[in-house]
Order: sequence, then C-alpha cells, then structure tokens
Amino acid sequence: MLPDYHIHTTLCKHATGDVAEYRSEAEKLGIPEICFSDHVPNPDGYDLAHRMALDQFPSYGKMIEALHDGETPEVLLGVEVDYYDGCERFLREWLSARKFDFVLGSVHFIEDWGFDHPAQRHIWDSADITATWRAYFNILLKFVESGLFDAVGHLDLPKKFGHRPTDKDLKEMAQPVLDRIAGAGMGIELNTSGLRKPVGEIYPSPLIVAMAREREIPICFGSDAHCPGDVGDRFRLALDLAREAGYTEYFRIRQRRKELVPLPEG
Ligand SMILES: [Zn+2]
Ligand SMILES: [Zn+2]
Repeated sequence: MLPDYHIHTTLCKHATGDVAEYRSEAEKLGIPEICFSDHVPNPDGYDLAHRMALDQFPSYGKMIEALHDGETPEVLLGVEVDYYDGCERFLREWLSARKFDFVLGSVHFIEDWGFDHPAQRHIWDSADITATWRAYFNILLKFVESGLFDAVGHLDLPKKFGHRPTDKDLKEMAQPVLDRIAGAGMGIELNTSGLRKPVGEIYPSPLIVAMAREREIPICFGSDAHCPGDVGDRFRLALDLAREAGYTEYFRIRQRRKELVPLPEG
C-alpha cells in the first residue's frame, strides 16, 4: 500500500472523525505512512468557513504530535495551503518558521469564486469554460513561481463538476505550468477524491499525468479524506494511473525533503 499524504481533520469545519480513527483506518489497510494536510489558516480571514483559525494551529500540531506514540503507521505533519494573490506576504515566513514535513499547495478560488464549491457550482452555468481554465492555470503559474510548496494538490480541480476544455487546449495550458513545476523540483499529487465527485476521475487526468511523467515530475498519493472511511480511497486505481503513465517511483517526504522510492509491485 501507498502512503496517504492528504488527510483533513475536524478543525477545517467540514470533516468528521478523530485523528486516531484516521490512523487506525490506515493501519487496517496496511498504509505505511500518513500525512495530515489540513487547510492552513490565514491571518486575513481568508475563507475562514473552511479552515482552522490561526489561533487553533497549535492545537492542530498537538493533535498530530499525540500520534507520535510508536504506533503504526507513522504520522507526518503537513498542511494544504491555498495559493491566492497576496498570500506570500504571510506564508513565506509562517511556513518556514514551522516544522512541517509536507506543504501541499492548492488553488480553490479564481478571484472570489470558489469554483469547486458545491454552493457556487451554478456559476459554471454562465462561465466560459476554456477561459476559466486559462485563469486557473495562470494562477498556477504564479503559485509555482512563489516556490512555497512541495507539491501541487489536485492539479486539474476545475474538472470537478465535469467542465473541461478540449484536450488540445488543456495540453497547451498545462504545458508551461508543468515545465515550471519540473524546473522548481516540485511534485504533484494523484488525488483520488475526484472519484467521489461528479467528474468521477482521479485528479489529475491521465493526459496530465503522462505530461508530468515526460518531465519526470515526482508524484505522491492523497485521498483528500474528510472522514476516516476515505483514507486510502481506491489507491489501487491511482497506482494503475501512475504505472500506465510510465512511473516506476513515487516520493516520500520528511521535513520537506523528498525521497524517491519504487512503486509497490503487483
Ligand atoms: Zn476540505
Ligand atoms: Zn483541496
């Protein structure tokens, strides 16, 4: 089994279950290592409805630390960080002052549109799909340039409700972003939560995973679990996706240093 590097906690206000339950779920599945990557707090009140407040961060650290008790699987401390215009001001110092194992970056907003939020899904009805994807990838270019992150979470998230550009447009938009990800030594996450969403497909799509492979961008795996039952969700399919793209290795990370290890056999 593969490590699950994307697990949330109740501090984000939209997850259920105790951190120990997530770990015991992982243990049952034979997952060797998990990383909690809960939504990071921001001091400017950014999207406070879906994340811990800044003063709750110490209790997040304590929750994870309490799992450093010699039991398996091993538990890493991570965060899922939203990239948006102006976030660097706070994040650059705040992230480097803390001992994270893993900093996963994500984009959930285009300006003030939470494009993956079910309550804002209707905005897609009047949106220009290709232009929206273009805007998303333009944010990702700045995201990569910021150098703040170890990996990109759910890289093609705008497909969540089934809105997609043509493959030709997607390729053209994704190419400069993937080039820069590779140049920055950043990884990407194969995130199985897309299988639980209307699109019914892992993030990112086989096309993007193949493009990432061409550039030797390292991969990791995440379930984006918001309840214990989602830990390791259909990782078999994510492993198949990685192999079909030609991957033979994935990365593990400790204190923000990646190490490549062979994908499991079989
Ligand atoms: Zn969440
Ligand atoms: Zn996310």
